Amino acid sequence: MRIDIMTLFPDMCRTVYTESIIGRAVEAGCLEIYSRYIRDYTLDKHGRCDDRPYGGGFGMVMQAQPIYDCYEALCGDLGKRPHCIFMSPQGAVLTQQRVKELAQLDNIAILCGHYEGVDQRVLDAIVDEEISIGDYVLTGGELPALVLADAVARMLPGVLASDEAKERESHYDGLLEHPQYSMPQVFLGQEVPQVLLSGHHANIDKWKLEQSLKRTKEKRPDLYEAWLKRQND
Ligand code: SAM
Repeated sequence: MRIDIMTLFPDMCRTVYTESIIGRAVEAGCLEIYSRYIRDYTLDKHGRCDDRPYGGGFGMVMQAQPIYDCYEALCGDLGKRPHCIFMSPQGAVLTQQRVKELAQLDNIAILCGHYEGVDQRVLDAIVDEEISIGDYVLTGGELPALVLADAVARMLPGVLASDEAKERESHYDGLLEHPQYSMPQVFLGQEVPQVLLSGHHANIDKWKLEQSLKRTKEKRPDLYEAWLKRQND
């Protein structure tokens, strides 16, 4: 898979994706990820990419031309039109299910907004999907783009130490994961649950599922109800 992030802050993105899980995915050849500097495409002789909003209002708006030309240049380089995602607090809130679907694509382009937002005409022209990382507002789309890239990267085969591990994590099948324990066996007077020390794999799996259901019901009754409904459908 290849991800291209269109941004006014390419270095901010590079700092993250050369490290951590995304960095490992790139090194392992599972993922290509690049930043495109929108300012490189502006026709303004002073390098401007933003201007005041028509009709008045606060702040500045990212102009259509540099973004449009940036995306067209990317399409030219790729020889196709990648699925274009605009990170936006107005988009559909990202879910693990959508992450899994996006991880099946060969190419994703992510547009990061800034300031008050982006001229609607370029969004209408190039964007296939708007994604939000939650119902709150950040100053720019870079952190949301990196959240999306990280979530997608860890779904790609070969990125995690064990591909099975991701299927057991929270949200993969709609439930939250069971509690985890490590050394020492007793901490602050609290013992590790005996079943985890038993070596009896069937009992351990049963305990994990029970704990997963219990946690989901307690912490996220909305997810629990949805999971129950799917079981009965
Ligand atoms: N004026 C816009 C509005 O009210 O919808 C918010 C603009 S916000 C300050 C600047 C940029 O940050 C957005 O264009 C978007 O790219 C990004 N952004 C902010 N919050 C986000 C969120 N929750 N999810 C995804 N992107 C977000």
